[in-house]
Amino acid sequence: MSAKILSGKEFAAQIKESAKLEVEELKNKFNVTPGLAVIIVGENPASQVYVRNKHKTCEELGINSEVVAMSESTTKDELLAKIDELNADKNIHGILVQLPLPDAIKSHSEEILNRIDPLKDVDGFHPMNVGKLVTGSPALVPCTPAGCIEMLDLAGIEIDGKRAVIIGRSNIVGKPMLHLLMARHATVTVCHSHTKNLAEVTREADILVAAMGKPKFVTADMIKPGATVIDVGINRIAPKKLVGDVDFENAVEVAGAITPVPGGVGLLTVAMLMKNVVKAVKFQLEEKNS
Ligand code: NAD
Repeated sequence: MSAKILSGKEFAAQIKESAKLEVEELKNKFNVTPGLAVIIVGENPASQVYVRNKHKTCEELGINSEVVAMSESTTKDELLAKIDELNADKNIHGILVQLPLPDAIKSHSEEILNRIDPLKDVDGFHPMNVGKLVTGSPALVPCTPAGCIEMLDLAGIEIDGKRAVIIGRSNIVGKPMLHLLMARHATVTVCHSHTKNLAEVTREADILVAAMGKPKFVTADMIKPGATVIDVGINRIAPKKLVGDVDFENAVEVAGAITPVPGGVGLLTVAMLMKNVVKAVKFQLEEKNS
């Protein structure tokens, strides 16, 4: 038996279509064109590709996109000043700082991300949004885990009452995924690098999320037959070869549904960013009217 392939392309197209309609509605009803500013510091080639993708997707959907390219030698204070300027700009509704930052200012990443106005924090990394996610209040939520939930819904895969296992406890993927799945009434276990007998835990999962950054680590014997496997990992194993954290070729024979890499979760992330820009505009309109 071969699993259903959950195509990121197909689900991302649906998410973008829905975001596009919301963008049009914001223009027609409120005369607001959503604006996203993406700050990129330095010349990291992978970051440049991600930023180009975000810019292109904004253009497709009618969102104003401003790419703020700053030199490798940008200081922390210069970057903070740029964020302050964008926080005050009424035409910019979403701000994100592309990570990783250059080595010279990397250690200040937290302070830099925390400077973004929480209402414009479309990456959902600000402690205010993290806190709201944990307590179940409306929040801007990190795009990758939010995209995974959206995909499960679009694919008609039930979450309520299911056993979910996440491998990875990062602030970007694992932890927000925990809260999103728990809010949808899954029973969730989070595994990490200190977890003992990992395969025993993962084999209990109806929904298995792999977000560890270890190429093909999750093998077929770690998967419960019929489970839904979401592979968040993106690992470059050769100049032109990307693989996930799941050994796809064998896992596909055991899983009930599985996301490929490439062509899976990565595409959902950019689509969800567009949804977050729209959400940010709505939060800002509510704030203005309150
Ligand atoms: P991270 O390095 O911050 O976290 C990795 C996590 O995996 C840690 O919590 C660690 O404890 C856990 N881990 C590592 N080795 C393990 C092991 N042997 N057993 C169990 N747990 C283990 O990584 P991240 O930022 O969460 O990213 C994870 C992966 O997802 C990476 O491949 C990254 O490129 C990818 N990613 C993809 C997207 C996307 O858009 N699809 C977005 C973000 C991250």
